[in-house]
Amino acid sequence: MKPAPFAWCAPATLDEALDLLAGHADAARILAGGQTLGPLLNMRLATPSILIDINGIGELAGLHPDLAGLTIGALTRQSTLEDDPALAALQPLIAMAIPHIAHRAVRNRGTVGGSLAHADPAAEWPALVTLLGAQLLARSKSRGMRLIGADEFFITHLTTALAPDELLCEVRVPPSPPGAGYAVLEFARRHGDFAVAGAMVRLTSDAGGKLTDPRLVLFGTGRRALRARRAEAMLAGASAGTALFAAAAATAATEIDPYDDLHASAEYRRHLAEVLASRALEEALARMNGKRHD
Ligand SMILES: Cc1cc2nc3c(=O)[nH]c(=O)nc-3n(C[C@H](O)[C@H](O)[C@H](O)COP(=O)(O)OP(=O)(O)OC[C@H]3O[C@@H](n4cnc5c(N)ncnc54)[C@H](O)[C@@H]3O)c2cc1C
Repeated sequence: MKPAPFAWCAPATLDEALDLLAGHADAARILAGGQTLGPLLNMRLATPSILIDINGIGELAGLHPDLAGLTIGALTRQSTLEDDPALAALQPLIAMAIPHIAHRAVRNRGTVGGSLAHADPAAEWPALVTLLGAQLLARSKSRGMRLIGADEFFITHLTTALAPDELLCEVRVPPSPPGAGYAVLEFARRHGDFAVAGAMVRLTSDAGGKLTDPRLVLFGTGRRALRARRAEAMLAGASAGTALFAAAAATAATEIDPYDDLHASAEYRRHLAEVLASRALEEALARMNGKRHD
């Protein structure tokens, strides 16, 4: 199929883009990398009358580390992050997760903002910003600037808190805590496919070896990436160990609301979630203790 007819605008500045959105919000779609929107247009699952192509707005792209953490422009390509040698030291989990996103050809065009705005529950970026406690900066003519916490940004499957006239402009990720160990594990049917289920973990500990502020996020297992807060509560203040991790993973699997689809049953997703969570906890511990360096 071919897309339904649409007008195409390529604003050169953020201000122009926001003006266009203000004038056409309900009829317009933002075009970033086009890796998701392109197929949606071709299949006429999206029929906007105007496309606002933000690829010429240079200020929306790039990485800016500072004392408050790392700011990532919404138009930053996945491959730009993948190729940045500084990323692994700044935000190890992001560096670990990017290679799981699709194939290199998709990562060459696909953007951080496009992935977040699309809000696929099996995508890596929603899980990343949820685990890392990031804030998402949106701008519009009517509301000005709005910082939205990752916990509030994702409403449900393919639905975010962005208003129709809002443009997602950047992601602000707090600094990685000293000594943190991370892991991302997922199961996909083929390399480059979306995860059937995945788990991300961050572990830190105090001087006495007790876990502090543990984070466990499951994705592909419900209508949005989910922090398994009951499992996190079991881990917080405890000494790490295989029995504890197994119990926390089993609890995490009760917190999700998985679905059946062509790729897997809900029951299988719940099983995967438990296995991946338990393994991710072990991996993150090994990295926190300096026993793994990959
Ligand atoms: C074969 C294939 C495999 C894939 N596998 C994975 C995978 O394993 N994991 C994964 O996470 N993703 C995967 N993807 C999706 C890929 O990461 C896309 O690049 C991403 O979801 C969309 O990014 P984009 O820049 O191409 O956005 P676009 O396609 O341009 O836009 C996507 C949506 O977001 C909106 N949008 C874009 N930017 C903004 C903005 N700044 N503000 C507001 N709204 C905006 C658009 O209007 C549109 O509705 C895959 C895609 C393909 C084609």
